[in-house]
Amino acid sequence: MTDTDRRTFVTGAALAAGAVAAPAAAVQGGAKAATTPAAAAYPKPPFPVQRQPWPGLASKMTPRPDHGETSYKGSGKLAGKKALITGGDSGIGRAAAIAYAREGADVAINYLPAEEPDAREVIALIRAEGRRAVAIPGDLRDEGFCRKLVEQAATHLGGLDILVNNAARQQTRPGIADISAQDFDDTMKTNVYAPFWLTKAAVARMGAGAVIVNTSSEQAGDPSPDIVDYALTRAAVLNFTKSMAKQLAPRGIRVNAVAPGPFWTPLQVSGGATPDKQRSFGQSSPMGRPGQPAEIAALYVAAADPSLSYSTGQIFGSTGGNGQPA
Ligand code: NAD
Ligand code: MG
Repeated sequence: MTDTDRRTFVTGAALAAGAVAAPAAAVQGGAKAATTPAAAAYPKPPFPVQRQPWPGLASKMTPRPDHGETSYKGSGKLAGKKALITGGDSGIGRAAAIAYAREGADVAINYLPAEEPDAREVIALIRAEGRRAVAIPGDLRDEGFCRKLVEQAATHLGGLDILVNNAARQQTRPGIADISAQDFDDTMKTNVYAPFWLTKAAVARMGAGAVIVNTSSEQAGDPSPDIVDYALTRAAVLNFTKSMAKQLAPRGIRVNAVAPGPFWTPLQVSGGATPDKQRSFGQSSPMGRPGQPAEIAALYVAAADPSLSYSTGQIFGSTGGNGQPA
């Protein structure tokens, strides 16, 4: 890479991240060396404490996350595939949606109606690649909607090869007494029932070569004390990935999961992290900073890549060094 290339790359990443700290400031933050020029530009704690109503918008975050808008380059790994991504409007799901489109896939995204502004940006990015983009807003806590979502995605895309179960609810509660039955129910419905309902509907339509990609978390194996209900859903999804991989292998359908560590997304600024945790977000990772969604997109591609045809029941991790959930 020449110096000019390097400057262009760093500027691109910084632009994508909006108001991110300048590379010099990011490097100043600690002795930890960056792994790439793009990583050098990524912000480190302390972060400005901010609070948005759930589910939050990426477009209102400071600094804005980098979802790979200007940096992800595809090479046809998912050419002609049809993918449905839940929570595809922002964060990790948006990064996967951008990557999938640049790898040649047509993409349907699901999100909550309040997230329409974020979703519009993603739809425009998918269309800019010349791929089909389908926006299907709706609430995954409803079984009937989950069935309709799969049906509509398959109809508008002309089939369904990849389902990415990525949407989730995370709300901090200091003690178990603070977790209401409604909280527990909302978390389970969004994070466990919906992937179950969606998987059930999707496999009824899928043939050999199809893939399901679930989002788990490092929380599956090392849960934080103040997101008890959420953490147990990430463990459930990990287990579900392994059982379904075994069940569907004879049909030629693979099931993998991606397990992120701390990533800078709306989930963390709309009730998913306390103000203290927000301020120091990612600090305890060996890299000393959170991941940006752009840094995990390639794992969603890998999890679905037909050339990794022997990989099923696998957990692909991206934690900044803090180990693996399973
Ligand atoms: P995010 O807020 O960008 O994405 C979560 C999405 O879930 C939202 O965009 C929303 O569209 C969707 N959602 C929530 N409730 C819904 C409902 N009832 N109906 C429909 N959609 C609903 O945050 P993210 O961090 O990118 O989260 C994506 C995935 O990553 C989640 O599964 C989360 O558990 C996982 N994860 C995140 C982190 C992190 O630090 N950000 C770490 C580990 C795992
Ligand atoms: Mg969102």
